[in-house]
Amino acid sequence: MSMNISIIGTGYVGLCTGVGFAKMGNNVICMDVDEKKIKQINKAEPPIYEKQLKKYLENVTAKGVFRATTDLTRAITNSDLTMICVGTPSNQDGSMDLRYIEQVSKDIGTALKNKEGYHVIVVKSTVVPGTTEINVIPHLEEKSGKGVGDDIGVCVNPEFLREGNALEDFLNPDRIVIGQYDKRSGDVLEKIYFNFNAPVLRTNLKTAEMIKYAANAMLATKISLSNEIGNICKRLGIDVYNVMKGVGMDSRISPKFLRAGAGFGGSCFPKDIAAIVAKGKALGYDTQILNTVLNVNKKQRRILVDMLENRTDGLQNKKIAALGLAFKPDSDDVREAPAIDVISMLKERGAKVSAYDPQAMDNMRKMHGDIEYCSNSRECLKDADGCLILTNWKEFKNLSDKDFDVMKNKVIIEGRKVLNPSSVKNFEGICWPGRLAQSKTEYHKDPRRGVD
Ligand code: NAD
Repeated sequence: MSMNISIIGTGYVGLCTGVGFAKMGNNVICMDVDEKKIKQINKAEPPIYEKQLKKYLENVTAKGVFRATTDLTRAITNSDLTMICVGTPSNQDGSMDLRYIEQVSKDIGTALKNKEGYHVIVVKSTVVPGTTEINVIPHLEEKSGKGVGDDIGVCVNPEFLREGNALEDFLNPDRIVIGQYDKRSGDVLEKIYFNFNAPVLRTNLKTAEMIKYAANAMLATKISLSNEIGNICKRLGIDVYNVMKGVGMDSRISPKFLRAGAGFGGSCFPKDIAAIVAKGKALGYDTQILNTVLNVNKKQRRILVDMLENRTDGLQNKKIAALGLAFKPDSDDVREAPAIDVISMLKERGAKVSAYDPQAMDNMRKMHGDIEYCSNSRECLKDADGCLILTNWKEFKNLSDKDFDVMKNKVIIEGRKVLNPSSVKNFEGICWPGRLAQSKTEYHKDPRRGVD
């Protein structure tokens, strides 16, 4: 049951969704305003790093079931269902910047004017509850001269994929949420998921929009709560990972998203939590829990730098190695990554920063062009007075004392739990004792108490 699908906005979500639906047997045409991106995609070269993406993109391109264009009318004309996957960034006050979503709704409306037949528009971008009804549907109707519910169907279909695992998550979702304007719209959208093995939940438009925010708010809260517990654990010489292992064994809680550390980043949690906080405020409601979730998250970055400053007797003119820049491993994405704030604070406090990341250095250069970028961990660590681990890349697991021996002073602090204690003698974690050869922590006098 193959369908002709167009995807508008070919970023992380759009490209993975497009390639995923093509792999599941549909004809897909992706559209983006970014010409460079489209050229690359048409050469089967993904503009982003994502596991398996290159292989799948090559495969669906070779089969002729996937192509990309900058021509929106061509994309709309050659499809019966369109997914909006453009970015929904934050305004200064945290509220959602609706520029792209509104523009694309107008453009799609214009393109639908001369198209015959029923066409379903699906909002896959994350948008605050009410957006599809207030900021999408009126533009579609005005520009097309057609009625939603008659010639046009509308759905909200939030995406729950995780960057770094995007294709795998897209192809094996826990659930498919379909917010529908009416039954007919929902029926068409459900058809494209017929060969997915996941429960489908059908709701109205606003509820589907809210499900995405509530899910992200819940996950971000688990992380900030783990960090808060971790900060107390640190003072008590307890490894929060052992604590959360015991907590996560409770089936009501689950072991996921309990990893304490430098806090969450990425293009979703910080922006989405800020957007729902702003929405609450606009509705006259003070979101106390979510405000705290954001504050605790920001604070982790400062705690990490304070800890390092403490252990290095000041950061002025010290060389600090930042290992890991991406907000998570297996990704080149640095949007809202803890490394951005951490590097800013290190620079403010007079440190000279050298950095290494297997995938994200080009992206970080756009944020911090004035630090040293190295081609491997060793080069980054050479003559350093301190080291911060900011992403739990698998390759950092293999680092050993031999690698850290090139440092001037071996002050190593993990913002992400990744080092192997049997290979590295002397390090500590932001919320866990780590492995200390001798006591350096201000929290407990007996070094043995800090060793797990
Ligand atoms: P992105 O910034 O990587 O990509 C957005 C794309 O939209 C860009 O390529 C941009 O050029 C394009 N675009 C902007 N205006 C356009 C227009 N008028 N016409 C055509 N293309 C246009 O964003 P992303 O990370 O893919 O996120 C997209 C949406 O999905 C956001 O709402 C985000 O919150 C949500 N989301 C993201 C993730 C994630 O892990 N990245 C997961 C779930 C949901």
